[in-house]
Amino acid sequence: MNLLQAEVERRGAQIFDLVDRHPESIFSKAGFYQRMMEFSMRDEHFKVQMFRFVDVLASLRRGSDIVQHLDEYFADMRNGFAPFIRTGVSLARIVPIISGKFLRWNVSGMARQFIAGRNPDEVMKTLRKKRRQGIGFTVDLLGEAVVSEEEANEYAARCQELLEHLARETRGWTDPLGKNSELFPVVNVSVKISALYSQMNPADPADAIAHLAPKLRPILRRAKELGAFINFDMESYAHKNATLELFRTLFTEPEFRDWPHAGIVIQAYLRDAENDLHDLIAWGRERGTRFTVRLVKGAYWDYEKIKSTQNGWVIPVWMQKPESDANFERLSRILLENESIVTSAFGSHNVRSIAYAQALAEELGIDRSRFEFQLLYGMAGPIKRALVEMGYRVREYSPVGELLPGMSYLVRRLLENTSNEGFLRAKFSEHVSATQLLRDPRDFVNGDNPPSTTIIPSAAGSLGPSRTGIFARDDGAGRNGANREMPPGDTYKNASLTNFVYPEAQEKMRAALHEVRARFGQKYPIVIDGKEVWTDKLLPSLNPSAPDQIVGLVAEAGIPEAESAAKAARRAFESWSRTPFEERCELLERVAAILDRRRFELSAVEVFEVGKAWAEADGDIREAMDFCLFYAHQMRRLGKPRLTQHVPGEESYQHYWPRGVALVIAPWNFPLAILCGMVTAALVTGNTVIMKPAEPSAILGALLMEIFEEAGIPPGVLNCLHGRGSVIGAYLVDHPDVEMIAFTGSREVGLRIWESAGKTRPGQRELKRVVCEMGGKNAVIVDSDADLDETIVDTIYSAFGYQGQKCSACSRLIVLEENYDRVMQRLLAAAASLRVGNPEEPGITVGPVIDETAYRRIQEIIERGKNEATLAFQATSIPDKGYFVPPTIFTDVKPEMTLSQCEIFGPVLSVLKARDLDDAIRIANDTDYALTAGFFSRSPANIERIKAELVAGNVYVNRSCTGAVVGRHPFGGFKMSGGGTKAGGGDYLLNFLVPRVVTENIMRHGFAPEATPEYRDEFLWPPR
Ligand SMILES: Cc1cc2nc3c(=O)[nH]c(=O)nc-3n(C[C@H](O)[C@H](O)[C@H](O)COP(=O)(O)OP(=O)(O)OC[C@H]3O[C@@H](n4cnc5c(N)ncnc54)[C@H](O)[C@@H]3O)c2cc1C
Repeated sequence: MNLLQAEVERRGAQIFDLVDRHPESIFSKAGFYQRMMEFSMRDEHFKVQMFRFVDVLASLRRGSDIVQHLDEYFADMRNGFAPFIRTGVSLARIVPIISGKFLRWNVSGMARQFIAGRNPDEVMKTLRKKRRQGIGFTVDLLGEAVVSEEEANEYAARCQELLEHLARETRGWTDPLGKNSELFPVVNVSVKISALYSQMNPADPADAIAHLAPKLRPILRRAKELGAFINFDMESYAHKNATLELFRTLFTEPEFRDWPHAGIVIQAYLRDAENDLHDLIAWGRERGTRFTVRLVKGAYWDYEKIKSTQNGWVIPVWMQKPESDANFERLSRILLENESIVTSAFGSHNVRSIAYAQALAEELGIDRSRFEFQLLYGMAGPIKRALVEMGYRVREYSPVGELLPGMSYLVRRLLENTSNEGFLRAKFSEHVSATQLLRDPRDFVNGDNPPSTTIIPSAAGSLGPSRTGIFARDDGAGRNGANREMPPGDTYKNASLTNFVYPEAQEKMRAALHEVRARFGQKYPIVIDGKEVWTDKLLPSLNPSAPDQIVGLVAEAGIPEAESAAKAARRAFESWSRTPFEERCELLERVAAILDRRRFELSAVEVFEVGKAWAEADGDIREAMDFCLFYAHQMRRLGKPRLTQHVPGEESYQHYWPRGVALVIAPWNFPLAILCGMVTAALVTGNTVIMKPAEPSAILGALLMEIFEEAGIPPGVLNCLHGRGSVIGAYLVDHPDVEMIAFTGSREVGLRIWESAGKTRPGQRELKRVVCEMGGKNAVIVDSDADLDETIVDTIYSAFGYQGQKCSACSRLIVLEENYDRVMQRLLAAAASLRVGNPEEPGITVGPVIDETAYRRIQEIIERGKNEATLAFQATSIPDKGYFVPPTIFTDVKPEMTLSQCEIFGPVLSVLKARDLDDAIRIANDTDYALTAGFFSRSPANIERIKAELVAGNVYVNRSCTGAVVGRHPFGGFKMSGGGTKAGGGDYLLNFLVPRVVTENIMRHGFAPEATPEYRDEFLWPPR
């Protein structure tokens, strides 16, 4: 054993010894809290339900609501606690007011265990008590998620007040150790950066800094005058780079350059923490003034893992707990070795981590008064006491705030205390031995992923699917992980979104915007039978943010071109329909790979041609890739003839044939994804295609054609016609050579196509199949117990993301009366904080609407709306050039009004008040459409009811109602929203196929083979 390890063990044993001398359970509060924690650790389901109940409790007003929720959360408990719960619930039902109060009192008690006070006055009582124990403080203001600038400004003002209050009330206080006290001011405030600016966007750190710095300067200035210390807390990974940059920017300014009382958090659970720390230290040396780093493991481990997995990103955190522990030690060494410029604050409750820092400091000859340990209020009391007794400086992180805003903090602490992986549970609940707890974390790391390798997630690794293995194939029943037996979404790994948190990704996007701008005005042909066709008319495609800019021009097709395309597609059908499906699947995969290679360029074109914000544009390219890969994956499930039934003496195989020539008419709002989705579905199933991109997104359509050509599409199999839907679209819908039409667009055009395709015309071979996706008038219901942090952010995004021009967008918000005022207050403030502007800028949320016609139409609807309902909000600060419609919110909207019934397809939200959930469901379902719908609630019973009763093709609970992911959320509606086909779902390809069954009697003179294979080769002649 090396000397350092021996010293760690010696010190650890000493701490444990001191801890054991003052036995105090970690769950020291007897009664309710103690029992709850014990139950939670015994039963995972109880834990989830209990913490969810705690989470909702503070927002419930009436005793009867509390009892109802208690009942709902615990009704299905079929474990050892059932009698306890049942009795509790039964008693509660009898006297709801008393039991509501009783529960609230108990949960408040629990919260008080972790929250040092409800307000600055109250917190002082705690701080005084701690002072007597030789423990210092850093105070943090608890708050709801900040969804508006109004709330952000409130937070800034509260920080100032807190600072003043603490300085006033602690006058005369001295540092508990005395020695080196100049490094550790008594007053220490921890600031949550995201609470100071509501529009932080990972793609735009410069904007975040531009807004945050002016809010922080007065706070820092005052702290400097008062001799206080300010620490920047660290939150989710999305904000990490901006927080670090903000810290460096502010503390390099002349005013603060020589001020040593600033600190920032480094999270050891991040793989790139080591690099960040090195950068910070290098910056500190150049600056020439001390600063502090609070080293922690990190509070958002589960969140980071879930979020990254959902988006297909490199997971930024270590995956094994001992890796975080080992990294904590590695970073402790870096900090202590640079003690000449950086003061260390070790934020941990883990005795091994603490003992390591102590032992290492000793080895390096650093006096114990030159660093400190920080622990959370309400946790690990005996460890704090032990550290004080050993002569170390201890500071307690002391949150202040009310119960409601403090709930998420409370739930985080409860989770931390009951975490299977956590030190506190191991030591104080499971009584793991000291020897085991003090072992070197490296001993526990699974060898596959040694902690000594710092894998820094780079933009390159997170940008495209190629690094995530989606092209990987299995050699079993299918390819790309395809498996005929499992649910389609489960075996499919989605393409990744670009993570714009990485500067490399931001730079690539900027470079792409620059390059695309440089080729504005380029001309693109019609493509028929593999040949470029130019006509004497060119259609310009304009930049809606600056309509005087022509993004590009396309040759306009007329009837003769439409006729040639139909003939070419018909001719090509003969061989394409007989091409083995595997070759067609591979073509789609090549298209996906090219989309991936060109994704920044294509995103940039989307920004210019259709006014999409960066992340929205990237999402569209990702979806296009997903369609290619998912449909290839699905075709491998469907491609081989499958036995219909095992019966002796006969074999019957069902398989599919393509329908013929498919006409694809696509919209401009998902200019690559929807076009590519319909085209690839038609192609992979063996149909040939005439595609007609929407006029406002013609350049993107032309680029998609180019990509198919590069991927090797044979002549005539895919033909691209630009032009007017009313001319060539209408002509081809009626054409006898067109067997099917895949359409996504307006209800008006969709219904015309539906009707026209229903007529049989001379020369027509087939009954025309129409895949028809139309609009929506999507409602989101907000229950009286909804989590408003979530509700507001997601509703704003659903209503105003891409200017409300998604068919899935929320256009009716139905709020239960009881919650109405609070929802509206936060919603209006949040809408007022939205960044409206040219989406070429990275952090813009709301850009222009697509063209002048849309602009005029939406403005007219708004004007008419003013006569119907109350204009509650309309943005005022919008660019004057371009088709910018201000985000608008109407209230006092009634279900029968035009605002409630007509699809607007713009940034206009109508708010309706409902008496109760019955009323809300009735209003939500009272429309011609059934596309998407949403519900925000924390009542399990209401959630179940909504799942059963909301009339929509896609129902979303407690999340935004836009952003369907291929394979995960098969997308599409019914009623006047569409024909019930689900794009990106397991059944979608069947719309492009006709089923066929081939039966052979295999009995000869009473003899038949015993086994018949479940799948057989494709029916192809001549065989390949
Ligand atoms: C004073 C103070 C201030 C803090 N400020 C912040 C802050 O600003 N930002 C912030 O993010 N955190 C902050 N934290 C950290 C956080 O809230 C937790 O308290 C801390 O991570 C727990 O670590 P530990 O060493 O006490 O306990 P341990 O039990 O030793 O470690 C638990 C931690 O290990 C990590 N972990 C858990 N499972 C895994 C796994 N499977 N793989 C890899 N790692 C895993 C997680 O980070 C988890 O929190 C702060 C903590 C303290 C004490």
